[in-house]
Amino acid sequence: MKTARTKTPRRPPPKKPSNADQKDPVGVYCRVRPLSPSDQECCIEVINETTVQLHPPDGHKVNRNGEYKETQYSFKQVFGTQITQKELFDVVAKPLVEDLIHGRNGLLFTYGVTGSGKTHTMTGSPGDGGLLPRCLDMIFNSISKFQAKRYVFKTDDRNGMDIQCEVDALLERQKREGHSQLASKTPLNKQRMEPEFADMINIQDHCKVEEVDEDSVYSVFVSYIEIYNNYIYDLLEEMPIDPIKPRPPQSRNLREDQNHNMYIAGCTEVEVKTTEEAFDVFWKGQKKRRIANTTLNRESSRSHSVFMIKLAQAPLDADGDNVLQEKEQITLSQLSLVDLAGSERTNRTKAEGNRLREAGNINQSLMTLRTCIEVLRENQRYGTNKMVPYRDSKLTHLFKNYFDGEGKVRMIVCVNPKADDHEESLQVMRFAEMTQEVEVARPVDKPICGLTPGRRYRNQAFKDELSRRLEERGGPVIGEPDDQSVIEVLIQSFPPIPSCELLNANDENTLPLLIEVLEKRRRIRHMMAEEFNKNVSSFKSMLQEVNGVVAAKENIVQGRMSERDKIIASQKSEMERLEKKIKTLEYKIDILEKTTTIYEDEKRSLQHDLENQTQKLQRQLSDKRRLEARLQGMVSENSMKWEKECERRVAAKQLEMQNKLWVKDEKLKQLKAIVTEPKSERPERPSRERDREREPRVPVRSISPSPAPNVPPVHARHRRSRSAGAERWVDHKPPSSVETETVMQPHVPNAIKVSVASEKALAKCDKYMLTHQQLASDGEIETKLIKGDVFRTRGGGQAVQFTDIETLRQESPPGSTRKRKSSPTKPPPQEDTTESEWTDVETRCAVAVEMRAGSNLGPGYQHHAITKRRKP
Ligand code: ADP
Ligand code: MG
Repeated sequence: MKTARTKTPRRPPPKKPSNADQKDPVGVYCRVRPLSPSDQECCIEVINETTVQLHPPDGHKVNRNGEYKETQYSFKQVFGTQITQKELFDVVAKPLVEDLIHGRNGLLFTYGVTGSGKTHTMTGSPGDGGLLPRCLDMIFNSISKFQAKRYVFKTDDRNGMDIQCEVDALLERQKREGHSQLASKTPLNKQRMEPEFADMINIQDHCKVEEVDEDSVYSVFVSYIEIYNNYIYDLLEEMPIDPIKPRPPQSRNLREDQNHNMYIAGCTEVEVKTTEEAFDVFWKGQKKRRIANTTLNRESSRSHSVFMIKLAQAPLDADGDNVLQEKEQITLSQLSLVDLAGSERTNRTKAEGNRLREAGNINQSLMTLRTCIEVLRENQRYGTNKMVPYRDSKLTHLFKNYFDGEGKVRMIVCVNPKADDHEESLQVMRFAEMTQEVEVARPVDKPICGLTPGRRYRNQAFKDELSRRLEERGGPVIGEPDDQSVIEVLIQSFPPIPSCELLNANDENTLPLLIEVLEKRRRIRHMMAEEFNKNVSSFKSMLQEVNGVVAAKENIVQGRMSERDKIIASQKSEMERLEKKIKTLEYKIDILEKTTTIYEDEKRSLQHDLENQTQKLQRQLSDKRRLEARLQGMVSENSMKWEKECERRVAAKQLEMQNKLWVKDEKLKQLKAIVTEPKSERPERPSRERDREREPRVPVRSISPSPAPNVPPVHARHRRSRSAGAERWVDHKPPSSVETETVMQPHVPNAIKVSVASEKALAKCDKYMLTHQQLASDGEIETKLIKGDVFRTRGGGQAVQFTDIETLRQESPPGSTRKRKSSPTKPPPQEDTTESEWTDVETRCAVAVEMRAGSNLGPGYQHHAITKRRKP
């Protein structure tokens, strides 16, 4: 058993022969139905063969602009009310049937509002068959003599077709028809049909396709579906009908076969052999549809019905006797006849609830059809590549191949000229006009099978001739006798030889009888020889004919070969061109690769650089942070120092003031004593004072001392110890003192260290040293060591006479001075300025403080000022 797939449009389209690039617009025809007697006003007028004019009904004659508006629409052809079904068929459907017979697809649909005559046009009315029965009639008229035996072709369930030999087909038929006694399998006769049904197929024009390939066998398969509410229902599905509780029909799915053609999965396809049989199948489906509509309360005008006629054809073998068992040779073509649902808008029918939703869906599928047509038109007009939304509805999805690929598409727009339909008719016209702007690729020609044409005819002629001749000779004519039986018949027709025995000399009967028989036999032999010669010559001529045919075939084959060679040569050159292209492209790729590697290297090095820079930056950043932290530390340290210094100064100032107070107090006491005591009891202080005045002052370091004019008279010889080595010191360091970074740190051996001056300590020592710190004008800490001698006062207390001041200070080296000088805010002084150019001029005053006995206040304080002057 062989299988074939439909040759219907495929996507992507295969390499097509000659006419593949040609396109035809969708053929749009307009049919205006007659006005029904109930309607008065006619709003449509046929202007000429291709134009109709619509004018608004009387009540609506003025449009918004106040103008009377008439609109004209042009179509491939316009059919007025007088047109007959036959005329319409001849123009619109006949070419589609011709295409079907020649292996091409076709789609014909009727479009219009309810009541506009779509069904009348497609199916027809009783006694006035429409396009559908006429198409069937024409098909069977055309192929009747060449139909294959039933079941030679068998549909598979994947939109393909299987083929089997006649014997297998016969066996299958016996098997099937033995099991089921289906009425459709037995020939119908018009007498037992319903009158309405019989009327519709009573077509008398015997129309047929002229050029049918006689060397093929044909089979017709029909299917009938309904699309309702965007569900597909098989109207030919065999279902037990339960009148009490009808089973709701099962919806079918759309599938795509291996050639990308859409088909309805599991849809019944009935093989039909006559118009009657086919129409009977249609009528059954129609009845089912009506039952479903009434039982399920559906509106018939809201469903689309699709009647599909599939024609399978396969060539005869070389003898012209049997069908060729090659699946590649099967051609399938399909003609789909679609009676669309009413195109009117929902509100017109005043539908409600479920009905409204269904109506919405119907309208939706027609909307999708409109959108698809619009997109197709736009794509073709502007060369765009917008996606056509075929999948949005079952209707458009089913027929997408027709619009996408090849296959003639024709549409009949039906209009009712009544006033009520005017608005809707305008919409219909607009859509129809737009549709005819869409172009569909011209169908591909059926490939030639390569066998000699006229096989069927020659085979038939041979058979006829043989039987004629046999009849002539009085031989067996019935059946097809083989060569052996013909010879036997001829030999049997020889007259038997009579007895040759002479009975006496006067026997005059035997010899003449023998002579006559022999003569007869000779004549027959002669006739046979003649016949033989004739046969030989006819055989020769037949052989010659065959030779001619063979030669012709060879020619064809050679022609094909040369064609193929040409194709191969062109393909070779194409391949060479492509190879060259590949080489150049490879070269380009090479270059690009090299460039890429160069760029990549560069990129890598740049990245490396970038990384380095980033690291450097980060290092710098961290350095900066560290520096900042250090600076902050320094600043806080400095401020701490400053705070301490301030405190100390305040304390010093306080001390100074107190000292002054005490001095004054003491003076006052002394004055009191002078006033109250006798002259002889004057203290020995003046003599001590005198001694001291006589004693030269010991210079300390480089600073020359000068006695203050108001220094109290204190004798140096009254110090407790004269030996320098044995001198005992009071080292008075106030607690506020800070350790400076001076190299020379004062260290007094064998000293009593005190932080607060105490008389007890002073009593034990004869030398006193006060460490005093203050801030110099340059911001550095200046430490002063104020030294003095300790004396016992007359009142029993201790007094210190300051003798020396040692100043310790720290100075920045000249380099750093320079740096400071270069500060941008302050203009620097003379470049060569150095510390050596400065001299210290010290003014000092010694204050003798006599500490009162019991007083725990600090020792005397010597005021000390340094003024820096620039050298002249
Ligand atoms: P549709 O299928 O568009 O709803 P129908 O084909 O059912 O419309 O037509 C409605 C009625 O009009 C039917 O009774 C039909 O016989 C009649 N009719 C439609 N077209 C014609 C026509 N061209 N000539 C005569 N009668 C027509
Ligand atoms: Mg209808």
